[in-house]
Amino acid sequence: MSRFWSARVHGLTPYVPGEQPRRPGLVKLNTNECPYGPSPRVLDAIRAATDDGLRLYPDPASTGLRQALARHHRLDPAQVFVGNGSDEVLAHAFQGLLQQPEPLLFPDITYSFYPVYCGLYGVAYEQVPLDGTLAVRVADYRRPCGAVILANPNAPTGVALPLRDIEALLDDHSLQPVLIDEAYVDFGARSAIGLIARHPNLLVVHTLSKSRALAGLRVGAAFGHPDLIEALTRVKDSFNSYPLDRLAQAGATAAIEDEGWFEHTRGLIVASRDRLEAGLCRLGLEVLPSAANFVFARHPDRAGSALQAALREASVLVRHFARPRIADYLRITVGTDAECDALLDALAGILRRNA
Ligand SMILES: *Cc1c(COP(=O)(O)O)cnc(C)c1O
Repeated sequence: MSRFWSARVHGLTPYVPGEQPRRPGLVKLNTNECPYGPSPRVLDAIRAATDDGLRLYPDPASTGLRQALARHHRLDPAQVFVGNGSDEVLAHAFQGLLQQPEPLLFPDITYSFYPVYCGLYGVAYEQVPLDGTLAVRVADYRRPCGAVILANPNAPTGVALPLRDIEALLDDHSLQPVLIDEAYVDFGARSAIGLIARHPNLLVVHTLSKSRALAGLRVGAAFGHPDLIEALTRVKDSFNSYPLDRLAQAGATAAIEDEGWFEHTRGLIVASRDRLEAGLCRLGLEVLPSAANFVFARHPDRAGSALQAALREASVLVRHFARPRIADYLRITVGTDAECDALLDALAGILRRNA
């Protein structure tokens, strides 16, 4: 606290990211990173870009990367925006599109950065409760509002909405911007990108942090009608002309172009997820149906915070949210099969010890 702070800074409740431990040897299943490295072509592209060219500013429009994304998703580059991680893309969308005279709607349980952006940009919002199965019910969003944002699959539940529900939401809100945050879509949900042509109010946000194994490079993207993209570009060019450096543009372009690596690694993760779910069920946990690279699970008679702490003692990091309705759940990132087995072994030991 300082007398030099602005009133806005006094009022902020910042997002708390998952722990990035310094201690080696931990099984790190707490921040939904990919257990496999990025495509070797990404590393080659970054190495090739590491030269005297770094004295020059990067392309402010990230043209090559936007073209690669447009080709990949069968869009026009004018329908593509990129930013420094999808968190930055989301921030620009909150400021440039979701800030409306009427309140923004999002679920009571979802990505906890959304209310943080509302605080930063002064966006009024209403939270719509998930149903009893912790799923989004789009009919509950049929009410006056300025905009809607949903994560699909949702975080931290991993539960996905079918595309027809997204389409119903878009039809109900044809006069408001609707943002679908598809950070985890590649692990089992259907993307809404195909709906962009028919719905000029739809913005879809992706990240390269999860399914492209590039959390450390900080690259995210948005897809939508060129008018929506222009709003984001106007915010970006009023904030930072060069959010993606030369190495990030080169690496991200190579990642998008390496279809084979992407398909291979996501296939491994989906298979490990099925195995992890089965293992957790055998230990007596309830697991929500996950379409993501993590599972959300609880033990019927163990507190989530106690389980998380005991796992940490056993050198396994998972995420726990001390929030109403989900305080007994653990969010467990799908690691390699070896990492998932380490988690299951540690959990079995904890449950035996305190049986
Ligand atoms: C991880 C995540 C993001 C942020 O991804 P970055 O591109 O790393 O900033 C956005 N939305 C959701 C729902 C996420 O889980």
